[in-house]
Formats: sequence, structure tokens, C-alpha cells
Amino acid sequence: MLSKALYYQLHNGKLQCSLCPHNCLIDEDKFGICAVRKHVNRELMTINYAEVTAMASDPIEKKPLYHFKPGSSILSVGSYGCNLSCRYCQNFRIARGQPSSKRISPVQLVQLSRSVENNIGLAFTYNEPIIWYEYVRDTARYLKEQYPDQSIVLVTNGFIQATPWRQLLPYVDALNIDLKAFNTSFYQKICGGRLEPVLTAIELASQFCHLEVTTLLVNGLNDSESEIARLAAFLAEIDADIPLHLSRYFPAYQLKKPATKLAKMYQAREIASEYLNYVYLGNVANVDNSTYCRQCDNLLVSRVNYRVESNLTVPVCDQCGCRINLVL
Ligand code: SF4
Repeated sequence: MLSKALYYQLHNGKLQCSLCPHNCLIDEDKFGICAVRKHVNRELMTINYAEVTAMASDPIEKKPLYHFKPGSSILSVGSYGCNLSCRYCQNFRIARGQPSSKRISPVQLVQLSRSVENNIGLAFTYNEPIIWYEYVRDTARYLKEQYPDQSIVLVTNGFIQATPWRQLLPYVDALNIDLKAFNTSFYQKICGGRLEPVLTAIELASQFCHLEVTTLLVNGLNDSESEIARLAAFLAEIDADIPLHLSRYFPAYQLKKPATKLAKMYQAREIASEYLNYVYLGNVANVDNSTYCRQCDNLLVSRVNYRVESNLTVPVCDQCGCRINLVL
């Protein structure tokens, strides 16, 4: 079903979408790059509003968010479509295709989330929430009006223009932004996007809500020592307490390179830890991903896969009193 989109202008018979930095110029009856926003009779419409393709109650650690309500569960939902075209996409069936979906209005989704036991709110994930913008905004606004204590989480590529981002962030409690690399050519050639707007989105997000960042280290393409150091230094300049998740690449979709070497993952963690206080490894078995005090190394949150244990009731080290970037 078509639904009205936000953020566009008419230009000589074409519509220019200004939701994400592609700024697509769209002819009548055509779609933008994301394949979900369509020019219909001089109006921009979305085809995926309220169309849910996937839903599950997930551990918050799976997003991944390690410093936001550790050990909790969150109802996670996604639609279809994406504004990037990563060659190693692990969700390409919903990112690039149009799988079957179920229509669930914002009110219905909020009611569903309230019916799940011990649920802390809603996470928009699986596909890119930015190109589901109107639905995410309407649902987040409704949840916050009705149940201010419930949380809104986005797992996003951060490829969005500043104006819509600023208007969405006040409804968001926590974000994981996928910073795909710290080199412009990777963004252009492997993901069909640009680095700069993502860096701007990260800086902006850090002023509004809890933020964690994930980078998938792709063998030989974005995993050099100097690139990891520059990426970590960029985040540290915003806040050295931003948790960084370095995730191990495995061949997927169109990219057939072998998996990133384990030694590379451990080395990357060491390099990033010179700049940042909390660096974790994803897709690596038997690694210590617990949280320790940055000052005295006291164990604060024990994490073994999705089994989480912590005695903390306030975000302060119970040994040395150091303040910890943890939302409990
Ligand atoms: S949201 Fe879609 S239509 Fe709009 S600029 Fe981005 S890719 Fe193009």
C-alpha cells in the first residue's frame, strides 16, 4: 500500500528526495535508489510503510548493544529495502528484494511490544530503518507518548541527511551505527555510498542518545592498521567511551573473499583500544567480551555469548567509583 513520504521537492517535473545523501531525482512512476520511495503524480510515496518482514524478541546484545540495558530483550522488527548496496550484505533478501510482509500499524506494533513479557521496547533493525523513516518516526512517537519508559533502538547505516536525522533522534534511546570503513573508496566501490555523511550522522547522534558503533572488518579492504587507528581516533575525539564492535567478515552475497583472519581481529582490537575504552569483537568464538572498568579493570558486566551477569544498579564502578558509560 502506498503512503505519503516526507522530505522531497519538485524539480522540473521530477521529485528530489532529501531523506538520504543520495538525493535521488526521480521521474514519474520511478523509484529512488532504495527501491521503496516512488514518484506518483508529483508526490513522493513509500511502498514499505508498516510492511513488516521480520519480527523477533532478541537479546539487546544481539543488536549489538553492550552498554544499553545489558541482559534485556527487545522486540525487533524490519521491513525491506536499503539505501546502500553492500557487496557483502548479510541481509540481502530483505535489503535488495521484496519478500512477503505483514501490515502492522504503529499502534498495533506498540500493542504487540507491550504484550511481550520483559520487553524493553522496539528495535528497528534487519533492513535499513532510515528508508522506513515515516513508519519508524510514527511508531517511535506513539510509543514515547504512551509509554515514555519504553525504549526505541535503531540499528542503522547512518546514511541520512542531517534534517530528518535531527527530527528523529529525540525519539531514539539507543543506536548502533554501522561505520562500514574509514576510507571513501570502500564506501563508493563496496557499499554504493559516501563516508562523510555517516561521520556527520555519528557526531550528531552522540549529542542525542546512547551510541555504539559497529565496523565489519573485511579482509584486505578496510582492515589495515592505519585505517583502524584513524577510525578509532575519530570516535575517541567525540567520546572515548563510545563502545566499538569490530566484527569479523565471512563471505556473503557477492563478496567471495576469504574470512578475515582471527589474528587480524585481535590486532585490530589492540589498536582500537589505544584510543577507545570499550572495544569488543563480533563473530569471533571464545573471546572475552565482558565489560571492565576503564580505570581499575574491575569486572562490571560478564558476557558469555548472550548470557549476561552484572550486579551494578548504577553506572559506577563498585570498586573505584569511576563513572561508566552504561545505561541500566
Ligand atoms: S531515501 Fe531512497 S529515494 Fe530518498 S534519496 Fe535516499 S535512496 Fe534516494
